Amino acid sequence: MKSEYDVIVVGARAAGAALAYELAQEGFEVLLLDENLFPSDTLCVNHLHGDSLAMLHEMGVLDRLLAAGGPRYRRAKFYSDGTVIGGLLPGGEEASSCLCVRRQIFDNVLLDHAKKQSGVRMLEGFKVVGLLRENGVVTGVIGQHRDGRAVSFSAHLVVGADGRMSTVRLMAESARIYSETVPIACYVAYVTEYEQDDAPLAEFFESREGSAAVFPTSGGRHAVRIVFPLSSEVWCSRFSAHPETAFPAFVAEAFGGTLLPKRLKAAKIESVRGAQGFENGWYQGMGAGWALAGDALTCRDPRYGQGVHDALYGAKLLAAVLSDYHPRHWGRNWELIGSVYQSALEKRLLSRFRQACTRTEALSDPAQKADILRRIAADPSAAPIFLGFMSGIIEPEEWEREIGRLTTAQPLPQ
Ligand SMILES: Cc1cc2nc3c(=O)[nH]c(=O)nc-3n(C[C@H](O)[C@H](O)[C@H](O)COP(=O)(O)OP(=O)(O)OC[C@H]3O[C@@H](n4cnc5c(N)ncnc54)[C@H](O)[C@@H]3O)c2cc1C
Repeated sequence: MKSEYDVIVVGARAAGAALAYELAQEGFEVLLLDENLFPSDTLCVNHLHGDSLAMLHEMGVLDRLLAAGGPRYRRAKFYSDGTVIGGLLPGGEEASSCLCVRRQIFDNVLLDHAKKQSGVRMLEGFKVVGLLRENGVVTGVIGQHRDGRAVSFSAHLVVGADGRMSTVRLMAESARIYSETVPIACYVAYVTEYEQDDAPLAEFFESREGSAAVFPTSGGRHAVRIVFPLSSEVWCSRFSAHPETAFPAFVAEAFGGTLLPKRLKAAKIESVRGAQGFENGWYQGMGAGWALAGDALTCRDPRYGQGVHDALYGAKLLAAVLSDYHPRHWGRNWELIGSVYQSALEKRLLSRFRQACTRTEALSDPAQKADILRRIAADPSAAPIFLGFMSGIIEPEEWEREIGRLTTAQPLPQ
């Protein structure tokens, strides 16, 4: 096996596999590394909408994902305190068409596709533990095979696509631009026999205790994501100890006033996984000999469910930015390349990121929230925008404009 590459990509899931594919299209030689053996699952719902599906189509993997994934859906319904808002997602067939593919399947399809590109070599079960440096410039990685053998590889650029706890980010000493902790717990259950309307749709439930979202996925299953605050200490410890028993108990208690317990009455729970405490974080994306992609660079808490979109988008962008230079010249131009990468990412993702950071406060007054929800339910033009925002299709600016319009409209009769 060669020991020198144009790019070493650490992490081979959404960001890493997509980046390896995109770099190969630009003619670069790539070594893709991951400590896992694939296929391998990871904590994620992976609800994807039109813009992600368009990128996957461009990459040439959409048909395989459609064959392996669940049904496409274009409708959504939201339930909160007696208010029900439902309908088609906005933006026409392409934009509103959603798909929820389990990560075990999704990552494997992407990785398989990346490995087929000439110029991509993949090493699974290989954990990166250090960075090589010459005169302060990162020149490669040191890692370990599962049997403990240590090996090093060199490259013009090392990219950390190694997730929200990125070790490459830590070792490269990437500057933290913004970081806040998000005091929520999030658990994802896969269930069969979820009782839903005829046509597949995404469903959102809100109560004072938390929120739930349900998406149809492969094999007749549904993915159920529940979120509650870390201040619910009893639920935090019950979920930590026995997630499979805590899940139905929480649904019954927190969502008793909604349709969710009825929907889940005959359901069989296959698995429940989750985590407590998340981050909204944005880090420096590039330095001398290194770069970051995906969650390692910017991550939002799981209520936004857009990390895979951001990972695919960032991978495409990074490959395009790098393709303007010969790999030998990346080292002396990293400040320029880094600033182009950073500002292009900000242009597309910063408003969504800001929205994630402020959403906790937005509409936090229960009376104001109930009033807005009633207005949306009563206004046929507002419902698609609201449902589109809940599903990640509508940009935060459009949703904020809509809230402005709704709050300045005449009061509703009681
Ligand atoms: C509960 C939950 C629900 C979510 N739901 C959605 C959703 O519905 N839609 C959506 O778009 N996003 C969702 N997300 C976000 C999404 O999961 C992430 O944004 C996405 O996984 C980021 O992909 P990534 O490739 O950057 O990182 P990851 O998927 O975290 O992959 C990183 C890889 O790096 C490898 N790695 C790490 N360290 C090393 C090392 N030292 N050496 C070698 N390999 C290493 C890991 O093994 C891993 O395979 C959700 C997240 C959570 C937590």
